[in-house]
Amino acid sequence: MKVTFWGVRGSIPAPGPETVKVGGNTSCTEIRTPDGDLLILDAGTGIRPLGLHLSQIPRCRLIGHIFLSHTHWDHIQGLPFFEPAHRRGNRFTILGEKRVNERLEQVLAAQYMDTYLPFSLREMQADILIKEMQDGETVLLGENTSVTALRGEHPGGVFVYRLCWHDCCVVYATDVRHPSDGLDTALIHLARGADLLIHDAHFTPEQVRAYPHFGHSSWLQAVKVAQAARVKRLALFHHRPTASDEELQEVERRAQEIFPPAFISREGFSLDLLASAASQTARPGSSRLTSGLSSGTVAANDKPVRIYE
Ligand SMILES: [Zn+2]
Ligand SMILES: [Zn+2]
Repeated sequence: MKVTFWGVRGSIPAPGPETVKVGGNTSCTEIRTPDGDLLILDAGTGIRPLGLHLSQIPRCRLIGHIFLSHTHWDHIQGLPFFEPAHRRGNRFTILGEKRVNERLEQVLAAQYMDTYLPFSLREMQADILIKEMQDGETVLLGENTSVTALRGEHPGGVFVYRLCWHDCCVVYATDVRHPSDGLDTALIHLARGADLLIHDAHFTPEQVRAYPHFGHSSWLQAVKVAQAARVKRLALFHHRPTASDEELQEVERRAQEIFPPAFISREGFSLDLLASAASQTARPGSSRLTSGLSSGTVAANDKPVRIYE
């Protein structure tokens, strides 16, 4: 299972000489399963270079699933500039939280109003399905991939996701706040034993106490979650726009003193989670590509819902 970071910054893009090593694009992470499933976590500005990369694959019909943690700008602003979504024949399913008063489609369509953009969401040429998920719901993609959503603490709400291919799991926990007197135990439970935890590390430990209402974590809280959940690796993610390469290098050094498998997520960095665990993981013999997609519904219940056959 290959994970690639395309945007690692929080709040707003931060290009420039001080951030050139870590990167200035906002949240977007690509996950490829050995079955060929394409999963995209968030659609910040990092989804634009991902789209350009995917568009270079010749004569390939792209089918993918975009899981949105929430709809703050830094997690959706790149979507209109995702090149493969403008190509007829491609198909993307966007999944995110079911809200009480607003449909996810309405929220996403709002950023395509003609006061902001010269085209609408429905003018994008690819087939775009929008599915709402409930807190605690699991969806199944194909035979081997499951994604579970859990509501985290963040202004306006946020989904944390656990994505598993067989027993190889990534937990994506961006824009999450922990209680002032401890850690989010539900999040620790969801992250238990994950091969990779991608966790909000927006603040320093001092800043997180000064700005609790911003709804973010410190790198030290991320490290403590990783330790409590006994994950194999920790990617510190959603860096402050003002955090320089130099500062983040120091954060990485301090985090690794406490938890050696911690690292700063950097734009363009890839890791294969199965590379070192190949002998322990049962891989199916076939390499199914995600074709033959059918549009099922993501129903609200406690059981996993198979949306693709
Ligand atoms: Zn954010
Ligand atoms: Zn946010």
